[in-house]
Amino acid sequence: MEKYLSQLNEAQLEPTIQKDGPMIIIAGAGSGKTRVLTYRIAYLMSQGVDPFNILSLTFTNKAAREMKERIAQIVGTSEAKNLWMGTFHSVFAKILRIEADRLGYPSNFTIYDTQDSDRLIASIIKEMNLDKDLYKYKAVRSRISSYKNSLITVRAYFQNPELIEADTMARRPRLGDIYKAYVERCFKAGAMDFDDLLLKTNELLTRFPEVLMKYQNRFKYILVDEYQDTNHSQYLIVRALSDKFQNICVVGDDAQSIYAFRGANINNILNFQKDYDDVKVFRLEQNYRSTKNIVNAANSIIEKNETKLDKVVWTANDEGAKIKVNRSLTDGDEGRYVASTIWEQKMNNQLLNSDFAILYRTNAQSRSIEDALRKRDIPYRIYGGVSFYQRKEIRDVLSYLRLIINPADEEALKRIINFPPRGIGQTTIDKLIVSANGYNRTIFEVMKNIDKTNVKINSGTKNKLQDFITLIESYQVLNQTADVFELAEHVTRTSGLIKELNKDGTPEGVARMENIEELLNGMKDFVEGQKEIADTTGSLAEFLEDVALATDLDADKGDSDHVALMTIHLAKGLEFPCVFVVGLEEDLFPSAMSMGTRSELEEERRLFYVALTRAEKQAYLTYALSRYRWGKLVDSEPSRFIEEIDEQYLDIVTPIEERRFNPMLSADIFGDAEGHTPVNPNKIRYKPAKQAVLKKGSSKPDPEKFQVTTPKNLKPVEKTNGNTALFDSKLAVGNIVKHMRFGSGEVIKIEGTGADVKAEINFQHGGVKKLLLRFAKLEVV
Ligand code: ATP
Ligand code: MG
Repeated sequence: MEKYLSQLNEAQLEPTIQKDGPMIIIAGAGSGKTRVLTYRIAYLMSQGVDPFNILSLTFTNKAAREMKERIAQIVGTSEAKNLWMGTFHSVFAKILRIEADRLGYPSNFTIYDTQDSDRLIASIIKEMNLDKDLYKYKAVRSRISSYKNSLITVRAYFQNPELIEADTMARRPRLGDIYKAYVERCFKAGAMDFDDLLLKTNELLTRFPEVLMKYQNRFKYILVDEYQDTNHSQYLIVRALSDKFQNICVVGDDAQSIYAFRGANINNILNFQKDYDDVKVFRLEQNYRSTKNIVNAANSIIEKNETKLDKVVWTANDEGAKIKVNRSLTDGDEGRYVASTIWEQKMNNQLLNSDFAILYRTNAQSRSIEDALRKRDIPYRIYGGVSFYQRKEIRDVLSYLRLIINPADEEALKRIINFPPRGIGQTTIDKLIVSANGYNRTIFEVMKNIDKTNVKINSGTKNKLQDFITLIESYQVLNQTADVFELAEHVTRTSGLIKELNKDGTPEGVARMENIEELLNGMKDFVEGQKEIADTTGSLAEFLEDVALATDLDADKGDSDHVALMTIHLAKGLEFPCVFVVGLEEDLFPSAMSMGTRSELEEERRLFYVALTRAEKQAYLTYALSRYRWGKLVDSEPSRFIEEIDEQYLDIVTPIEERRFNPMLSADIFGDAEGHTPVNPNKIRYKPAKQAVLKKGSSKPDPEKFQVTTPKNLKPVEKTNGNTALFDSKLAVGNIVKHMRFGSGEVIKIEGTGADVKAEINFQHGGVKKLLLRFAKLEVV
């Protein structure tokens, strides 16, 4: 038997080496579902299946990357490279590019992210003169999204009186018209939104039987992780593609279905056996992740759900510590409890920051936790907040790049046509939009043919439009020879973007500049990475696709030591030695909005089950008796979920007010006096974590800055001809340096001159990297 197969138990081995036919693995958390999928792929390859014929769909791209790495270790990198692996969105975006012209799209179509969709919808609502309080663009977007995910096209919508009626009752009779306009505008802009990536794939597979056949033949083996959270659109794709060979393996846990609110359909897993003939069903029962206490406590919770498949989960792991439950007076106290506990645990048990995760129900809860972590100087990272690629300055650069490959991209064009300011006013832009809609042309086309259109503008403005077109076209020429990095570097310099930021001497301006440098660094990595392990071409289109589909989790290269903060939804599939689940209060978790029906409540309970089962060694549950919500202090009660856990697994920690008078508990553990006093949240002083984030002379902390976790040491920005930050050129071989992303490493080689000096550095985590010093932010240690 192959050696790696011995790393599986018997129950895991069986589905791993079950080569053909439809099969489902239904099993509880931590029982090795993802591991079986991974090893199964390696096994298929060892049995002679061509990696080109294997399609594996995961919940995040990060999960796909990790799987691929593991498989590469077993079967070799060159083989693993050819696997089709990724999220539904990323895999089918690739296929749509190949087949785009059949659907009337350019192959370099833009992917509109949520912000692009929001802006377009808001603009349509405005153009249609609708009341924006009735037609809230986010609500409209989510409605359109749910139509798309149920495969209700515009035409289907207008043929369905019930839907029209429902929207009319919701006082949005024009919803269908907005939907129609939105779809048309996306199409004209050569853009697909996230839901289109699934909807259009379905369209492709149903309208073009030859395409369906092609991909059925290609994907002889299909594997899907986290199957319980697939939506209808995803379900249909998998069903169609697997129809010919029926070598389909799905894994999931009905108890972890937590995306119903986004259209996930738990019936996909429950009905799997009806969809295919002779389905083999496997169950895994042994949990390898968590202690007995955690596994048993989680079991005692999920038992309370009525809708569930019967499953056994047990573990041979140690009993472990009981789950600690802590009550605090306020959310501020809760934060301090979490921070001091982490601090204490790190000291006593030599743990790393990355051994801890703090999970919450809603993003808003991170605030009080962050304040406390900063006070203790504990580095942390928030996942799922505003991601790097969403930042204004980054979007600006990306919009230039998007427009270069797809001049029809309306949202990109609107963003940069007058940024940096080039004297093209909103009135002119509005005229262009009206004209473009009238002629059914793109804005770019209208601009190019302005004399043939009805747009009335003066000759000065005309010249400005012409200059803009010339600029973009010159970039298009450069794009034919330059790589992504070279192009972007040229664009930021010559478009005036960097000049604009350099004018802004505030710390924020400097931080924005650094972000652009970081983006360029990332592009350099992308270009070089593509050269090394490429299964792709490294084109601009590909870079933009990666960026559009990157989730915040994907950006994490696991190379810095920080506590992870995220919502429970995002934590699915992950594991950490110590997990805090915070804000366990009625109306917060379970959420006030999800207590209306039993099924909603059961979904909340599953969410709690997911949260608890992320923990390997120690779980902490915390709640506060009062909490600031929507700007008001409200009283809260402990969550019913705490009571639902069998008591024998719990360790009710002494409530904080009792500790306060206990001289045995030193201030070391519970922080300064502030940590002990019932805090009036009005009096909480916000301090920037380190003064370093503020430039000399500026005294007012910017609240935004509180988002900064481990403030970078801002070096003064020296201006060069290229207007980019200079590095410390005294770097020498043998120096030990520190890099924001890769940590510390030793300089092993320096080459090049002037602005092109590169250093080869052997990083502790990340290996040898060649960095352009102009952009790499290195600190000599
Ligand atoms: P979830 O439901 O949370 O997605 P899962 O069922 O996918 O969990 P895995 O993530 O595959 O579970 O496995 C949980 C942990 O147990 C991982 O750290 C994995 O490496 C480990 N593990 C799984 N099977 C074994 C085994 N046979 N021997 C040792 N460790 C194992
Ligand atoms: Mg898993």
